[in-house]
Amino acid sequence: MPHRASKAKTANRLVLLGGEGVREAGSVWLVGAGPGDPELLTLKAFRVLATADVVVHDGLVSDEILDLAPASARRISVAKRKSRHSYAQGEINRMLVAFALEGLTVVRLKGGDPFIFGRGGEELEACREAGVACYVVPGVTAALAAAADAGAPLTHRGAAQAVTFVTGHAAAGAEPDLDWTSLAKANHTVVIYMGLSTAPGIAQRLMDAGRAGATPALIVENASRADERRVVTDLAGLAAAAAGISGPALLIVGEAMALARAGTAEIVQSLEARGLERGVGS
Ligand code: SAH
Repeated sequence: MPHRASKAKTANRLVLLGGEGVREAGSVWLVGAGPGDPELLTLKAFRVLATADVVVHDGLVSDEILDLAPASARRISVAKRKSRHSYAQGEINRMLVAFALEGLTVVRLKGGDPFIFGRGGEELEACREAGVACYVVPGVTAALAAAADAGAPLTHRGAAQAVTFVTGHAAAGAEPDLDWTSLAKANHTVVIYMGLSTAPGIAQRLMDAGRAGATPALIVENASRADERRVVTDLAGLAAAAAGISGPALLIVGEAMALARAGTAEIVQSLEARGLERGVGS
């Protein structure tokens, strides 16, 4: 099999001595697939994906990226779906461990970076507890792609000395328990993941804690994808702007967002105009 050759280069491989003789130990690779654009995959992610026996992936990972795994690799979606059984985190952990114990190379493919709101830490712990080798390949987290496409830096001299990534999601649809006083400090960029439905409460809390309603804000939906959409607003207008958006999106609040450009995926369009291969869905 073609993927055996690069698999053999994997460092620190273990050998299990089983009843049938010597068997190679499997491993779990937590791989960041980036925000959507396949060109934002790392070369390491690309290489590791090509060695997979099994790919366990989220809903945010596009078919185009999944196609980089060998045709023979088994693909398992653990995407959250309303219509059918969703996998609990414990089931995913057990699945990864079980495949690795069978001697397989398991690629756990996640949107963005595995360690930014990706529950990669829980999967790593499960592997460690089971004595399964687990490696992490970082990915471009959505915030980095969103800021790049908007032309608005997350840190900027004089306007943003710090950036904080927070989750807007807490159990049972409640607002997260965050340090609003610290997040409301000026010259600080706050990036909110999973914050569309809680945007009204989050914006209000930031303003109550002293962040000006006129602080520039940006919403980026489908960052780095062909259907990307960016809405430029301010903190006072954030909730109303978020109400019109349904896809995966980030809310970004901070003075440096004054540089953000609204619009759609013109980077994609300009690449296409220059005849560069893209191939991300229409
Ligand atoms: N591990 C991922 C985040 C997973 S949490 C990462 O590092 O990017 C899922 C949330 O990420 C979504 O609700 C959304 O807020 C954000 N997200 C993921 N992909 C995105 C994209 N292409 N554009 C905008 N937001 C995205």
